[in-house]
Amino acid sequence: MIILKLGGSVITRKDSLTPTLDSNNLTRIAREISNSSHHKLIVVHGAGSFGHPYAKEYAIGSEIKSTQELTRKKMGFSKTQNSVKNLNAQVCQHLLEQEIPAVSIQPSSFIETHNKRIINADLDLISKYLDLGFVPVLYGDVVLDMDKKIKMAVLSGDQIVKYLAENLKPEKVILGSDVDGIYNRDPKKYPDAHLMKVVTSYKELESTDNIQTVDVTGGMGGKLGELLELAKIGIESEIINANHDNNIKKALNGEKGIGTLIRNEK
Ligand code: ADP
Repeated sequence: MIILKLGGSVITRKDSLTPTLDSNNLTRIAREISNSSHHKLIVVHGAGSFGHPYAKEYAIGSEIKSTQELTRKKMGFSKTQNSVKNLNAQVCQHLLEQEIPAVSIQPSSFIETHNKRIINADLDLISKYLDLGFVPVLYGDVVLDMDKKIKMAVLSGDQIVKYLAENLKPEKVILGSDVDGIYNRDPKKYPDAHLMKVVTSYKELESTDNIQTVDVTGGMGGKLGELLELAKIGIESEIINANHDNNIKKALNGEKGIGTLIRNEK
């Protein structure tokens, strides 16, 4: 079984202030998945510009101090949920057009967090869909949080990937992003940054300050944190550039070394 994450930076125009799909990328990626050798597969996608503008405007996940604030935040939650659900429908539509039996699984309908970390999610149904050869498609969403002060949280696709991987034990975790992998510092800000072929800890990066992005769910820093946790329990992952033709297809076919491998120190 393989878990494939499609970054919000790949399937949407992430810096757009309004929800904007990158339909060309999505069509190409759906084709690459369809043309790769067959595995059990789960797809998780990010929210990109379908989620971040709302989550930020309504500060989902920050402390709620009054009933007015709760009323406003609930509207923000619902708007975000609806927007990422629309993105998911379009992702599934693109997969279906390539004869991939995608089945949408809505995180806000079965996952809850406490202090923004998943505490409760029954994966039994996902396993059953997988066993029948369906491709479950999950995504970054808003969820109920059991912490009384925040009540609601933004759940990143990256955290979903980590939770699914630690419980379902895939052979491989592949994350498609808009950069070639993890660099010693942000390659978009520092043209002289160099790509790391293998990362086994935060220490290998210049400083954790350099792996922050404005992303409300943590950007590359958040991503690496989740993947290092997986590495600790022996699950390797690879971050690849999904904007380059055939990278996803190659990774699904078992090719290694396309981007950055995150694994335990050996
Ligand atoms: P996605 O939407 O694909 O899940 P994010 O936008 O959350 O990905 O994170 C990827 C971004 O993180 C890249 O576009 C890059 O600009 C930024 N970034 C910051 N620090 C680094 C780093 N050290 N190496 C690679 N990318 C970095």
